[in-house]
Amino acid sequence: MALFAYVNGRYELQRGAGVHIEDRGYQFADGVYEVIAVQNGRLIDEVGHLDRLERSLSALEIAAPMDRAPLGLIMRRLLEKNRIDNGMIYLQITRGVAPRNHAFPEGMKPSIVMTARRLKPFSRSHFRQGVCVITRPDTRWKRCDIKSISLLPNILSKQEAVRSGAFEAWLVDDAGNITEGASSNAWIVTGDARVVTRDAGGAILNGITRQRIIALARENGLSLEERPFSLEEATEAAEAFTTSSTALLRPVVKIDDRVIADGEPGPFSLKLLDLYAAHMERGGEAP
Ligand code: PMP
Repeated sequence: MALFAYVNGRYELQRGAGVHIEDRGYQFADGVYEVIAVQNGRLIDEVGHLDRLERSLSALEIAAPMDRAPLGLIMRRLLEKNRIDNGMIYLQITRGVAPRNHAFPEGMKPSIVMTARRLKPFSRSHFRQGVCVITRPDTRWKRCDIKSISLLPNILSKQEAVRSGAFEAWLVDDAGNITEGASSNAWIVTGDARVVTRDAGGAILNGITRQRIIALARENGLSLEERPFSLEEATEAAEAFTTSSTALLRPVVKIDDRVIADGEPGPFSLKLLDLYAAHMERGGEAP
């Protein structure tokens, strides 16, 4: 079935859809995006994604092209038109179209594009399988908290992961600490049962899945720390895992050539995956 995209006010066949060649997203990566998972027709943690979208827009001084209510309606209409119950929505807003110049005119009209893609429904057995990650130097800027469409270091690191048969590339900062994955947040579980992930700030994107896992861990009495952790601490950890809206939670069993613990997904990772799956089954609403 041919897919529809939403492009600046219109539903168009995705195949032929396009934007202006002087769109600043195309020329400068001057824009932001969100990816929202869809499970059984429900948008998982829609509120968290739209909150972050608004923060990213305001950090870049891009006007919101519309309010949340019409945005929500368009996302649902796009899913309907594409007959998607399980998959994801990609939403991108750029500063808009202007003659190429680094500085931008005031009061620009932002461009908005949405696409939807079908993915396999959640399968517990698939997500319980361990994955391998490689590490790469984190060469990004200091505002990784903004979900910008400028992703060169991320895509190059991910490509190296794929080339070496790994699921993800975890990025390591100049101090030797892991910041996050190329497109996911990085976690470890220490030998004394503390769940650890990098503190939110300019060094990482504060994942919506990350925030949800933190809430679920706390509600279930797990001990949780948001702090930097080194590559060395990670390779010696009891468990490791990586999270994102589409990868959900994947246990990590190998980092570069170092096997984590006994090389099997650990109990905390699997417990948190179950809690996250239950959260999605509830429709991903706020607690
Ligand atoms: N970090 C980066 C760099 C990402 O690209 C993503 C996924 N977009 C994440 C973390 C995870 O964020 P979320 O849980 O909101 O998908």
